[in-house]
Amino acid sequence: MRIAVPKEIKNHEYRVALTPTGARELTGRGHQVTVQAGAGEGAGFHDRDYEAAGASVEADVAMLWQNAELILKVKEPQAEEVARLTPQHTLFTYLHLAAEKTLTKGLMESGATCIAYETVTDAKGGLPLLAPMSTVAGRMAVQAGAHSLEKAQGGAGVLLPGVPGVAPGKVTVIGGGVVGENAARMALGLGADVTILDKSIDRLEVLDDRYQGRIKTVYSTADALDEAAKTADMIIGAVLIPGAAAPKLITRAMLADMQPGSVLVDVAIDQGGCFETSRPTTHAEPTYIVDGIVHYCVANMPGAVARTSTLGLTNATLPFVLALADKGWQQALRDNPHFLPGLNVHNGQVTYAAVAEAFDLKS
Ligand code: NAD
Repeated sequence: MRIAVPKEIKNHEYRVALTPTGARELTGRGHQVTVQAGAGEGAGFHDRDYEAAGASVEADVAMLWQNAELILKVKEPQAEEVARLTPQHTLFTYLHLAAEKTLTKGLMESGATCIAYETVTDAKGGLPLLAPMSTVAGRMAVQAGAHSLEKAQGGAGVLLPGVPGVAPGKVTVIGGGVVGENAARMALGLGADVTILDKSIDRLEVLDDRYQGRIKTVYSTADALDEAAKTADMIIGAVLIPGAAAPKLITRAMLADMQPGSVLVDVAIDQGGCFETSRPTTHAEPTYIVDGIVHYCVANMPGAVARTSTLGLTNATLPFVLALADKGWQQALRDNPHFLPGLNVHNGQVTYAAVAEAFDLKS
């Protein structure tokens, strides 16, 4: 199969959809891989690395798309990329269509077959192509929050591990899923005093069993949130209600109860944020202060660690890429019931129910 890997063009996106290692797997099976010149640079992969893996490098973007059957990307196609899509293409990338009507219409009009990373499932009921980026964001959250606690950033001047004779800082994580558990693990590793709040007793049981009391688990109620606001040096928002906007769990009024210079890290900002005072920020200016409380609300946290994120993402996507290349999309989806929900748009139709319902389209 002819496979193309364009350079990502979304603002501040440095990841790439295929590493030289992945290219070698594909070319070794007889597929033809073409990578846009410079596509891997942001993640530390050079054109010569792809060439050594048997891929070709193409500087002409129009040629790259025209000659391809399978297109591998990271972010949803931008307008100029949608214009390049035709019915001959199978696109495999993050799409997040439910919030993007113009993009959905554009993909329908292109006639291309569009398979989304984020709706592929696994046998455990998880989202295996979303989880690696939640892991990255969770682990980064504590790093970003710890930096924000420094005086120069407007923080309270608290060092999370404390020092001998001085108690460690208190970190509360709201939502104990993939992001939350990874954030809690990092905070624990730094020696902080860590509490996780969740609405799911099952999840709290898993966490309690796994960390044997080293992480406190608390059922999430209004009282528990009030307590967190009064005592925590850092609160990490990591809730998810699938398909819905995040609930506002820390209100503006509650900021008055927090210690000045405490930090809110809202990882759920990509779902609207779980703190009332959150608004999306970028890596260029990640924080702002409301009522003396530092807010970190970067919507694409994994982009800052593009190399680790690329490696984590492509480890997860590679088996699916190989199936698409070896079998073609129809057979690959037919053979794997967890890959099938990845299909979002085909032949001008939306094929994923939640997206069709979001825009009142027929699926
Ligand atoms: P997940 O489904 O694994 O975990 C979410 C957890 O939130 C679940 O355990 C659920 O029970 C819990 N929850 C739901 N409502 C709650 C409430 N009211 N109080 C306490 N807990 C509650 O999801 P995840 O993969 O960990 O993702 C969490 C959020 O992080 C999502 O919004 C996701 O989109 C976001 N995210 C953001 C970035 C970024 O760069 N900002 C990167 C990756 C993920």
